[in-house]
Amino acid sequence: MFDQPEKQSILIVDDAIENIKILVELLRYDYSVKVATSGEKALKIAFSNNPPDLIILDVVMPNLDGYEVCKKLKASPITHNIPIIFITVKDSEEDEIEGFELGAADYITKPIRPVVVKARVKTHAKLKKYTDLLLNISYCDGLTGIPNRRRFDEYLKMELAVALREKVPLSLIMLDIDHFKLFNDNYGHQLGDSCLIKVAQELNSTIKRKNNLFARYGGEEFACILPNTNLKNAIEIAERFRMKVIELKIPHVHSLISDQITISLGVTSIVPDLHSTVEALITGADNALYKAKKSGRNIVCF
Ligand code: GH3
Ligand code: MG
Ligand code: MG
Repeated sequence: MFDQPEKQSILIVDDAIENIKILVELLRYDYSVKVATSGEKALKIAFSNNPPDLIILDVVMPNLDGYEVCKKLKASPITHNIPIIFITVKDSEEDEIEGFELGAADYITKPIRPVVVKARVKTHAKLKKYTDLLLNISYCDGLTGIPNRRRFDEYLKMELAVALREKVPLSLIMLDIDHFKLFNDNYGHQLGDSCLIKVAQELNSTIKRKNNLFARYGGEEFACILPNTNLKNAIEIAERFRMKVIELKIPHVHSLISDQITISLGVTSIVPDLHSTVEALITGADNALYKAKKSGRNIVCF
């Protein structure tokens, strides 16, 4: 209703419509405001593809109360970064302590005092903006500009949890440039760097789904996380990657298998159970990649 993409978004959760109205009126000019009238609805929005930057959460609500909602949000790697401001009639010290112990960013008591609410929301929204900015920088590979290993590790852990919860497949592609040492040795490190940038940018730009993540795993090795994707589709995507690199036509006359840059790829896919680990998934893709190298390179194995 008040959507403006450049604004930060705030989710207001309260079972009393009057309170929601007051808060919406207070905040709608500076933020994109979403509302939920129950804890259940709040969780649905928080776990959606478009989570809010900040949540204002009523404590006393029927069924799922604010504390329970907060616990669930703080327990999940998908939502634990969203600051939560409790807003409540419960004004005892114990209540406040409980709120902060659950990981709340702030605690405001009713009746709503507009200036106080606006000021505190502004502070936490600003903090969230800078936290996101810092996270983005720390998640970015310095050479290629695509997500780095840190981002890869965290994202894979998170998507493994999602796949387990939703009982859907999770696929992983690991890929490695063929005979890249020979490229570096013959063309020099600078051309090596620019080759890495080209390959990274090209493959990253072929990613269509928002929840797929293409990352630099290290050196001349890249990885792609494919949530909710089965083995067959993951192999197709890996094959597309292989073709894209061939289409780049980066000369490599010193390669032992071609006269241009090629990649080898390993694919693995699981429907996770409680015993599944990130390490096992990576090992699976790594073994497939090793097989691809052994089979002559410039090939997809699984
Ligand atoms: P294989 O086909 O078996 O993968 O052979 P390879 O030569 O590609 O593999 P190897 O692991 O022996 O060599 C990888 C090379 O990648 C060595 C290193 O110089 C180069 N490399 C790793 N990171 C970078 C980087 O950031 N920039 C440049 N220019 N080269 C890099
Ligand atoms: Mg290599
Ligand atoms: Mg390598």
